[in-house]
Amino acid sequence: MTSDFQHFSLHEAVVHGVQSMGYSEPTPIQEQAIPVILSGKDLMGSAQTGTGKTAAFALPLLSLLAKHGKMRCLILEPTRELAAQVEIACKDYSRFFDVEVGMIHGGVAHGPQRQMLQRGVDVLVATPGRLLDFMEEGDIRLDDIQFLVLDEVDRMLDMGFLPQVRRIVERCPKERQTLFFSATLPPEIESLTKWVLKDPQVIAIGQRRSPAETVTHAVYPVAKDQKFDLLLALLEKTQYHSVIVFTATKMMADRVAARLQELNHPVACMHADRSQKERMDALEGFKSGKFEVLVATDVAARGLDIASVSHVINFDVPSHPEDYVHRIGRTGRAQQEGDAFTLFTAEELDTVRAIERYIETTIPRQKLEGFPYFYTALFNESAIPPGGNAKGGRTLKGYSFGAKKRR
Ligand code: AMP
Repeated sequence: MTSDFQHFSLHEAVVHGVQSMGYSEPTPIQEQAIPVILSGKDLMGSAQTGTGKTAAFALPLLSLLAKHGKMRCLILEPTRELAAQVEIACKDYSRFFDVEVGMIHGGVAHGPQRQMLQRGVDVLVATPGRLLDFMEEGDIRLDDIQFLVLDEVDRMLDMGFLPQVRRIVERCPKERQTLFFSATLPPEIESLTKWVLKDPQVIAIGQRRSPAETVTHAVYPVAKDQKFDLLLALLEKTQYHSVIVFTATKMMADRVAARLQELNHPVACMHADRSQKERMDALEGFKSGKFEVLVATDVAARGLDIASVSHVINFDVPSHPEDYVHRIGRTGRAQQEGDAFTLFTAEELDTVRAIERYIETTIPRQKLEGFPYFYTALFNESAIPPGGNAKGGRTLKGYSFGAKKRR
């Protein structure tokens, strides 16, 4: 089988690895990033999830490493799930090749990870906290690092990891090649790029702010007390085979999952308070089709490579517009079609409008035919005051937008 990957100067065994994965042509970020990385330049990339970003950096780095030796490549990831995904991808691409890939992350015992480190790896995929633990215990030195990848840096910022990231970068040699990926560039990240990167080549794939183009999205206005019923009705009406339901809080994720379970939906739940084993079981069960619904918070689910999610339902409107783009990036991956629904109450209307300003598009309002709506006032948004919830509650067509907080 010939492959368009042959026109890059990638190592033959890496091209073979890619072919065995069945990829026939590079994605746009791969087309742009691979030559830059092979030329030795620093890179600053912004790309939507599902664009093939992992292979875009892994293929050239594995080619440059070429053979087994010291630990020369460090890839930092914000979550264990992302680290696991990147490790698996690197192992897949290097299967015809004498390069060792290892991973360390928190939430599990140190022993097996220490043994893996002692056996020796060329590429280490790590989350910042566990890496610092090992560095402090003297199990890891970064003196031989030639290639440093900082992935999903905006999520590292959200999770409060930037100080750790700085400490790790300080311990890497100054002479190195650095690849930096972040979907958004808040000021904290912009200043980090100046410190971390040397004369980088900048690559932006697609419009940074637009959700995946293969996703059809819509918002569903609903009264607060009917949110769960509308979720159920949407699940019943939709021909879904795998759906991720996002909630704003861990508590809400547990609640929604428990209620779906009571109604015999095959459901799994994933958030930061669940053990590593529970999270892995949830993910594996969802990927294998054992669970049709995965209820998750952002932090747990960001960047997960679940190739064929058919639907994303936002049970709560994400409070950061960029999270909306990330969440719905879960569906429509690798050019498949997907749908994203967002339920919103009057209190969340301003947040919906902020998302629309951010993505510079009006998201269509949808009404589910046959659903027994308490009221329809939200379909006439001009009737709703900013904030959606006037002091002391406000009655619209008989429905009280009570002062009671949802969380
Ligand atoms: P990523 O953006 O790295 O999470 O990749 C998203 C998905 O696209 C993963 O399931 C990859 O295995 C897949 N993928 C990456 N590169 C290609 C390619 N050139 N052709 C087809 N699928 C790809």
